[in-house]
Amino acid sequence: MRRLRALLRTPLGVCAVVLLLLVLALAVAAPLVWGAQATAVDTDAIQQGPSGAHLLGTDALGRDLFARTLVATRLSIGLALLAMLIGVTVGTLLGTAPAVLPRRAGRVIVAVVNIAVAFPGLLLALFFAVVFGVGTTGAVLAIGFATAPGFARVAQTLSASVAGRDYVAAARIAGVGRLRVLVRHVLPNIAEPLVVNATIGAGAALLSFAGLSFLGIGVQAPSYDWGRLLGDGLNRIYTNPAAALGPGVAVVVAGLAFNLCGETIAAALGHRTPLRRLLSRTSAPAAPVPAGADDTDPVLRVEGLSVRFPTAVGWAEPVRGVTFTLGAGEAVGVVGESGSGKSLTALAAARLIERPGVVAADRLEFAGRPLLSAPERELRTLLGTSLAMVFQDPTTSFNPTRRIGRQLAEVAQEHQGLGRRGALARAVERLAQVRVPAPAKRAHQYPHEFSGGMRQRAMIGMGLMGTPRLIIADEPTTALDVTVQRQVLRLLDQVRRDTAAAVLLISHDIAVVTQTCDRVLVMYAGRIVEDLPAAELTERARHPYTRALLAVVPDLAADRDRPLGVIAGRPPEPTALPAGCAFAQRCRYATDECRSADPQLTPVGDDHRLACWHPVTDSGADTTDARISVEGSR
Ligand code: SF4
Repeated sequence: MRRLRALLRTPLGVCAVVLLLLVLALAVAAPLVWGAQATAVDTDAIQQGPSGAHLLGTDALGRDLFARTLVATRLSIGLALLAMLIGVTVGTLLGTAPAVLPRRAGRVIVAVVNIAVAFPGLLLALFFAVVFGVGTTGAVLAIGFATAPGFARVAQTLSASVAGRDYVAAARIAGVGRLRVLVRHVLPNIAEPLVVNATIGAGAALLSFAGLSFLGIGVQAPSYDWGRLLGDGLNRIYTNPAAALGPGVAVVVAGLAFNLCGETIAAALGHRTPLRRLLSRTSAPAAPVPAGADDTDPVLRVEGLSVRFPTAVGWAEPVRGVTFTLGAGEAVGVVGESGSGKSLTALAAARLIERPGVVAADRLEFAGRPLLSAPERELRTLLGTSLAMVFQDPTTSFNPTRRIGRQLAEVAQEHQGLGRRGALARAVERLAQVRVPAPAKRAHQYPHEFSGGMRQRAMIGMGLMGTPRLIIADEPTTALDVTVQRQVLRLLDQVRRDTAAAVLLISHDIAVVTQTCDRVLVMYAGRIVEDLPAAELTERARHPYTRALLAVVPDLAADRDRPLGVIAGRPPEPTALPAGCAFAQRCRYATDECRSADPQLTPVGDDHRLACWHPVTDSGADTTDARISVEGSR
């Protein structure tokens, strides 16, 4: 509201309010003030031009055209708004339905909308006008249905863009149903452009109505709107141009009022969630988060995991036969270059791979439950309470239109049956637990009022709303400065020790992983190529790719004026994987055997697995063996 008030003080806001109030005031008052004058027949003043007594002249019955133009405001505006309401409602329903309906039904709706959008709006309006019949009701329905496909397309596009945001993924992990995700997270974030479109559409509907009435298939006598007056005036354009000018100007002014008002409201809509009363009481201390340290079964068991996507040239398989387990309280880091499949592996474990992606595995279990075959309802509850996700970009991790506390509270409301107040109290406690200062106050703030580091801590706090057994952190510190990065990593470590939750840390930064994790999985071209204890990474790494990764990590002795080192060459495309080792083209040890047969991940010692025909045998990172180049720039 504060933002809206500020906007209303700008020249744009003032113009919008003045014009809209003028139009609305006329719509309400004009029939009362000028109604009698507008219908009074005066046979002595038939078809007169403008004069002091009749500013726009008179019509064929001697009625005052100025009064009639003012009185027509109510019907013109009312019908245009009604048509627009129908268009926006039907369009938004059609546009967002694919997000909640089964895939096939969603596709049918998308196809119908695509076909409808291909027709010009006026043609559709005329078509529907014929279908619904001549008259006011038919015209309202015709314009409403004719504008719906355009809104449906806008709503579809906007929904699709919002559906990919991290906070939607977080809500889905929290077990929030599709309809609720749509209402709580998608619609509020597409409201602004929809309102702008609706406002512009109201002006367009006004014009369309004028057009239909002008053609004689809109408002019928004895009723009249600006379109009918315009039509009558155009017949006398050479003898009394004011008769057409009056309703024409009225249409333009009303359209302008809608447009300016829409722009003002849209600018304020980013913060439109109603203010809630601050929570005055604090809840009883929360029960300590149950630890899963006694569990002997792995928290996450992944065997033969593959993720595939259809492409124009066949199936791409960016994750191929990945196998690992993650025990309670264990921290495992996954490292590799961009496109190595590390994030997709984590997303598959969180069940966040959407169609047309296909996830397959010999075994994919979380907390002993099969992720690929367990009932949907059971998994929603399990993942919602036991899996926490921390995303890379703290600016997209939360829904910008909802207060932080409410977003955390959603998990407790959804799965723990807490009421609004109790859930919010728990959210405040969790914010305090992740060391967000003044948590009661912060819970009522919006994400943009949090710093990047604080948002990441709040995200971890969201994971703690349940009883997390696994925390997946996908590049959680990439967007943060070094100091905040260290704080977030320490917090993750603290949470792991306090709750015995397992941590799967995805990072391109091998230094971060070695400092934070117990074990490191090195991924290349969709496969794990080496798995070994983090503490022994620099000493025991034997895969040429791992050695190359280690070699490009800058140390204290590195020349800061020189570009950062990179590994020469590029990983193969997932659609064009070689028959043998995927690293062969970049590896100086490659032999014919490497190029013809793909090495499998096999144990080579205690806690050490390796996929290489010719492991490097000397110790430590070797910058010469790895053929390091310095192509990058700092
Ligand atoms: S299998 Fe051959 S090409 Fe692949 S990493 Fe090992 S030595 Fe290099």
